Formats: sequence, C-alpha cells, structure tokens
Amino acid sequence: MRKRLLTLAAAAGLLAASVVVPAAPAMAAPTFKVPFKCGQAWSGQTRTNHSPAYSIDFNRTDDLGDPVVASAPGTVDRVTDLGGTSYGKYVRINHGNGYTTYYAHLNGFNVSVGQSVGYGRVIGYVGSTGGSTGPHLHYEQRLNGNDIQIRFNGALALYWGTKTYTSDNGCSSGAGSGTVNTSGTALTVRSGPGTGYTAVGTVADGTRVTIYCQTTGTSVTGTYGTSSIWDRIGSGRYIADAYVHTGYDGFIPNVPRC
Ligand SMILES: [Zn+2]
Repeated sequence: MRKRLLTLAAAAGLLAASVVVPAAPAMAAPTFKVPFKCGQAWSGQTRTNHSPAYSIDFNRTDDLGDPVVASAPGTVDRVTDLGGTSYGKYVRINHGNGYTTYYAHLNGFNVSVGQSVGYGRVIGYVGSTGGSTGPHLHYEQRLNGNDIQIRFNGALALYWGTKTYTSDNGCSSGAGSGTVNTSGTALTVRSGPGTGYTAVGTVADGTRVTIYCQTTGTSVTGTYGTSSIWDRIGSGRYIADAYVHTGYDGFIPNVPRC
C-alpha cells in the first residue's frame, strides 16, 4: 500500500496526525500487459467495425507462428477450436473478479483447460484460423462477459486507429517487495490469505519482505487503510497488505496473483 497525503485535512486541523485516511479499495482489474513476449513491438489496430468493438488485432512482420502469451495471471478456462468460423482456435483466460481475456485465430495451443498461467506464459501461436483472412492475433478484454476498452499497464489503448505496443510482459522476475509498517507491534503471518487462517509466525515492524504473489482475502484495516489484498511472503506464509508499504495502492504491477 501507499500512504495517502493528508494535506487538506491537516491544514483544516480536522484530523490528528495519527489518523490514517483509508486507501482506495483494491482495484479489481488485473494489470493487463501486451500479450507477447518481453521487448517485442506489435502493431495493434482498433476499428469501429470490429466485432466485438473494443478488440485489438495485432500484427508484426512474419508473425505466423509467433508465441502469444498470457496478458495477466489467471486460469485457462477455454481451449476451443471452432473450425473455419469465428475465432477458430482460441484460448480464454479467467483472471477473477469477472475479468477474462480472449486470444483468437491461433495456429495452435500451448495450454490446457484448468491450467494456471502467469505473466509471460506462452499459451498458443499466432495463426489465421476461423474467420480470419491472414495471420494476426485477435485479442479482447472482457468484464462479466462484455468487451471493454483494452488497457495495458492501466493505460487505455488507442481508439480508434493503429498504434505500436511494446511488451513488458514477463520482463521482471515477478517478485515484489515491501516494508512492514505496524508502528511497533509484530505483524501476524497466516497460513492463508485471511484472518481466519492459522497464525504461523510474526514479522517485526520494519522488516523488508519479498512478495512472491498477491491475492484477495479478508479485508483488513491497517497502517495504509483498508484492503483485502494479502501478500505471500513464503510458502504458506501470508501477511495483510494493509500493513505493508509497497509503493502501490492496489496490486503491485508485475507481481503475479497467487
Ligand atoms: Zn479481430
């Protein structure tokens, strides 16, 4: 979490210095990344006659067979071949909280249904299957089944037109870090992401921790406000993100979901 500024409240003398304004609730949207390998530049086109409207068609030179990667951590819930129509061979990833992504017209698959995927994981290969007339990746982000305007690292894609998107997907190791801030008391470490899980230890105030993945669990009010995000700091070891200074109000970009 990141500390919010108290400038206005402090100036008005309404709040004692020790009162912490709750941070905004954790953003439900995953941090989506360009669905290609780290460092690759792809031309992405949006157009008003596309179906669904907010999809992006991606191309680059000689792209047939190029790897397509998961744009955010999640679980593969469709690996489907519609034959010569529509999406042809496509993969859908469920990212939780109602978010899914679609990868269509694939030449082939590299995942199966039920598989957990993280950033940078190859899920299939660019093709021209289904209703496609030439190799490209048709990509969608959906919320509760409806296509939404696509964002990469939180930034809106270009509507409407063609733009080059450079991938930072899978560029980092995927681990993050933070500093425990409890103002003195040791922070309880739980076996899972919630206060109902068994206490398996403590970490002292001021401890620098490595965050291997983040997930949502029970809501906790701590030093940095109220949050349902939990940080996994080891095998079977979770701490409430509301007590951890990570520099981010929500999930840490590049750190996978558990
Ligand atoms: Zn398309």
